Amino acid sequence: MSAQREDSPQAFEQNTHPDLLIGLVGRGIQLSRTPQMHMDEGRAQGQRIIYKLLDADQFPRGEKTLEAIIDAAELCGFAGLNVTFPYKMEVMPLLDEISGSAQAVGAVNTVVFKDGKRIGHNTDKSGYEEAFRLNMQGVKRDHVLLIGAGGAGVAVAHALSSLQSKHLTIADTDKDRADQLRASVLAASPSIEVDAIELHNIDDLAPDGVVNATPVGMAKLPGTAYPFDLLHRDMWVSDVIYFPLETALLAAARATGCRVLPGSGMAVYQAVRAFQHFTGREPNPVRMKATFEAFNA
Ligand code: NAD
Repeated sequence: MSAQREDSPQAFEQNTHPDLLIGLVGRGIQLSRTPQMHMDEGRAQGQRIIYKLLDADQFPRGEKTLEAIIDAAELCGFAGLNVTFPYKMEVMPLLDEISGSAQAVGAVNTVVFKDGKRIGHNTDKSGYEEAFRLNMQGVKRDHVLLIGAGGAGVAVAHALSSLQSKHLTIADTDKDRADQLRASVLAASPSIEVDAIELHNIDDLAPDGVVNATPVGMAKLPGTAYPFDLLHRDMWVSDVIYFPLETALLAAARATGCRVLPGSGMAVYQAVRAFQHFTGREPNPVRMKATFEAFNA
């Protein structure tokens, strides 16, 4: 992992924008790469961004309500917050405005404090969509299988719908979650065909592409939610996991000849679009991706 760099006096002299205070609210977020992406991009654009982790697992005086955390951040002059597990839905009633896209997804991962208002966005959805558009041009998506209907799966399902997938099958070991996500996607896009199924029913499907949005395949939870023997070279495979970047599923898919989209795409582009919301400026995605990847070096 790259150490946080000290700004040099020369860099400060070149500051062309006022300092900006941003935070990430969540639990278990100490290894997040998002702060460094924002700070490095700010520095490259001549702005000192101070990005604080507001980790609810580590507050010195114990539990605080989300409302108290948001109030404190607003009072302390934060320009905005990224919001992650377990607060993406809980934060919504605490906001003044929510973008249409975040409302459709039913989750907010970016809050901007502006002119006395709290405005919510969902850049997980737009981040996955943008990464997909850039890296998976021309892939067929008449039928896509999404495994996992949790936090990441919700954003991916709505992104796949915006990417004009015609038929989406959602599989989760928790069928209720798959059913809820099906209803949410249909409410936003009534023309898409959506099924919610039990995980053990995926063997007979012949999807054009598969997205893993479960934690299975993470370094701490090895394995695969999609059996390798169902892979064939004409399908594409996407994984949202980025610890590790190359999951066993992606490695098997690559070896089979499939086009693949690693979890870094969504992770980088959620930050790219959040940076734009926080600063009002267009970031450089290549630079932000380089910061993200430097963690693996
Ligand atoms: P979550 O717990 O909210 O959801 C996971 C879902 O997967 C649950 O609904 C669970 O029932 C289901 N599931 C678990 N094992 C399964 C299996 N074997 N088969 C089918 N369904 C199964 O978790 P989350 O927040 O959605 O995170 C999932 C993964 O996505 C994690 O690895 C996380 O790090 C990653 N993630 C990546 C990004 C990114 O930007 N790339 C963003 C968010 C989360």
